[in-house]
Amino acid sequence: MAKTDNKTSVPKRRANNGKLSFGGKWQYAKAPESTDHVAIEDRYGLFIGGAWVRPKSGKYFATINPATEKKIAEVAQANKKDVDAAVQAAKKALPAWRKLSGDDRARFLFRIARILQERAREFAVLETLDNGKPIKETRDVDVPLAAQHFFYHAGWADKLELLFPGEKPEPVGVVGQIIPWNFPLLMAAWKIAPALAAGNTVVIKPAETSPLTALRLCEVFEQAELPAGVVNVVTGDGSTGAALVRHPDLNKVAFTGSTEVGKEIQKAVAGRSVDLTLELGGKAAHLVFEDAALDQAVEGVVRGIFFNQGHVCCAGSRLIVQESVHDLFVRKLQRRMARIRVGDPLDKNTDMGAIHSSEQLMRIRGLVQSGVDEGAVLFQPKCALPKNGFWFVPSMFTGVTQSHRISREEIFGPVLSVSTFRTPEEAVKKANDTSYGLSAGIWTDKGARILWVASRIRAGIVWNNTFNLFDAASPFGGYQESGFGREGGRQGLRAYVKLRSGLLPG
Ligand code: NAP
Ligand code: MG
Repeated sequence: MAKTDNKTSVPKRRANNGKLSFGGKWQYAKAPESTDHVAIEDRYGLFIGGAWVRPKSGKYFATINPATEKKIAEVAQANKKDVDAAVQAAKKALPAWRKLSGDDRARFLFRIARILQERAREFAVLETLDNGKPIKETRDVDVPLAAQHFFYHAGWADKLELLFPGEKPEPVGVVGQIIPWNFPLLMAAWKIAPALAAGNTVVIKPAETSPLTALRLCEVFEQAELPAGVVNVVTGDGSTGAALVRHPDLNKVAFTGSTEVGKEIQKAVAGRSVDLTLELGGKAAHLVFEDAALDQAVEGVVRGIFFNQGHVCCAGSRLIVQESVHDLFVRKLQRRMARIRVGDPLDKNTDMGAIHSSEQLMRIRGLVQSGVDEGAVLFQPKCALPKNGFWFVPSMFTGVTQSHRISREEIFGPVLSVSTFRTPEEAVKKANDTSYGLSAGIWTDKGARILWVASRIRAGIVWNNTFNLFDAASPFGGYQESGFGREGGRQGLRAYVKLRSGLLPG
């Protein structure tokens, strides 16, 4: 049973249908063209040891809808003691969970995946409300991919020995996971599914500004009857994350977020026997050659930078286009950008929703101003923006040089910078002229050129004649300041096991 810890009343509800069973104050979010509603509690506790508990601090904070600036719900602020309780719960649950057969663990993961699919609409609406991204994306990308991660990893749970031939894979132990706000549910699924498949237990901290779908996922865990303590969710701010990574009983830390915080975490675990994987920022090059199918490339470039308002670590934020087609390509892009529909994220026709927070909006504005000040040429189509909420027009800079801040720093917003190249060698050189190395894209008609360029680009993912396509079977991760370790695929599971030689006795 899910329970809130509202001081005035303690509403209970059946975790599996999201309906109020008695008492409590509820608000309902209505999705367009829909007759049913998504129930949201006034206040959420922490999910520790399979129960909803009050934060020891007694403190709560609001999570708001970035498209309206209205409060959606209050969420608990976990402190060091709450984090400790969550880690102890995960530690207590570990022996029984790791002892389960892979087949039994798979059953839980399959169950979670199926329930997520059944409750897909509810998750899509909730994610759109809490994050600001369009319902079209939460419905077609975030939620289905989150379910896919549970399905995919369920499939490996009883086959880990095949994955690591000649070795005896064992769980690492208690894992602390910290995720960002740009794909809240999907990042939770990316982190939790492989950890559970390999027999680990988890304490996860969602981002302060987008905690609701991770909390709703706890209801799915309850519904799937996942044993208590196998996954614990502690909400809070950066101090909650800092307390988690410093906890002495963790065996592994997995972090997705900014390079800056990634570096802090690296320091916090230094000298301790804690495994670490970091998925950090990016500044992807998107290369368009003159022989590419230009109209398709326009679609790819638009998807590459304006998907999820550009709040994407692997966004194709640096378009580097062959000089001979630059003017034509830019004209095509401008026409296409003028057709991007920006507005109400709950409207299924919306292409670009709200910027996630006022803080992020300020950052985008600041970097765009630096582009103007440094002499790049800004294009923004005419676009009516809603009065309330946080919004930014799809934007493109031309005449960008490698030294401009907009070319070097991650904007994490709907802002494309365009520069040119003449030869493939120059394209590769410019693409690699970055401190990051997460992703890249190549548009060309020539297969041999794809292979030539792709093998020379230092990025974890190189998309060819497509962009921003994700699959649970495909490893994701970076080089340099984009972090280390992979998530997804067989490589992703490697981070959640310790290997012992199966040939040794014992
Ligand atoms: P962030 O500020 O680094 O926050 C990420 C998470 O870390 C949040 O849960 C945050 O809590 C927490 N945190 C903050 N300070 C911490 C500390 N000292 N110790 C431990 N945890 C701490 O990043 P963000 O602004 O949420 O997300 C944007 C960044 O994430 C971008 O740079 C983007 O490129 C990167 N990202 C990378 C990937 C990838 O797979 N490589 C995917 C998505 C995003 P609060 O929310 O309370 O601050
Ligand atoms: Mg929010």
